[in-house]
Amino acid sequence: MEIAARNETSLAPVSTTYRIGCLVVVIAPFLGFLAAGYGLWGWGFYWTELVLLVAMFIATGLGITIGYHRLFTHRSFETARPVKIILGVLGSMAVEGPILQWVATHRKHHHHSDKSEDPHSPHNFGERSFGVLAGLWHAHMGWLFRPSSPGLDRYVKDLQKDTTIKHLSQLFVVWVALGLAVPAVLGGLITGTWRGVLLGFLWGGLARVFLVHHTTWSINSICHLWGTRPFDRDDHSRNNFIFGVLGLGEGWHNNHHAFPASAKFGLRWWQVDPGYYVICVMKWFRLVWHVRVPTKSRLTDAHHRTKANYEMNHSAN
Ligand SMILES: [Zn+2]
Ligand SMILES: [Zn+2]
Repeated sequence: MEIAARNETSLAPVSTTYRIGCLVVVIAPFLGFLAAGYGLWGWGFYWTELVLLVAMFIATGLGITIGYHRLFTHRSFETARPVKIILGVLGSMAVEGPILQWVATHRKHHHHSDKSEDPHSPHNFGERSFGVLAGLWHAHMGWLFRPSSPGLDRYVKDLQKDTTIKHLSQLFVVWVALGLAVPAVLGGLITGTWRGVLLGFLWGGLARVFLVHHTTWSINSICHLWGTRPFDRDDHSRNNFIFGVLGLGEGWHNNHHAFPASAKFGLRWWQVDPGYYVICVMKWFRLVWHVRVPTKSRLTDAHHRTKANYEMNHSAN
């Protein structure tokens, strides 16, 4: 999933400036995470910092999974303009790139899952030890520094016509700055000290971006390598419990590849899906509507198909 700003409406090819921007966006949160972690040794991590970290992680993580992914990419529900704006701003605060860039890359991932045109498959480097490691690195973050995946424009023609989304996407850098400023200001206001400002910035800003980044990127890397495959697919998508929880529902990635238009990723009662729970609450308050979930018969068909394919493959061996 993409990072840093570039010309939104044309999704221009990667430039040196863009690559340097990527490097800063990847390394700065890591350094912030280390600096914040240093504070754990008894002087810089109290309730205020914990609350800022968790609240900002959940708010921006929901911006990604509900806004960027389930709404803008897959249109799995409908909503009003103010809700779109809030979700777009929260998603942008995760510093994974402007909406148009992120959506185009992700739609291309679905279109070519684990084929050579997939922008971030871990399976294009061979399936032996070094190939798996190289693929893991590429799918996790290596792809960010590669030449731009060609033909992204055609994946977001619908969104380019939506002026609200286009403007949100163009103002990406503003939302990033806001996402770093808010926890810093809150830290200062709560503690009444400059140290509170600094710790708010480190924990609610940089360390939080670091954790959200690596959670999202793990969906591209780990959730195409390790986990279960309840639905037979011609890709390597997997359901992974750990990232189901950490990714606020994103880790049920095999379910998602099987039913990409579904707003619900956790299809079994025990598959924790906080993103979907929030959508349900929003639906109850009539903030969203036309929420798409697979019917019982489509789920049963998919299970039967998977079982039939499994039996056919095993009888052939
Ligand atoms: Zn995938
Ligand atoms: Zn998707």
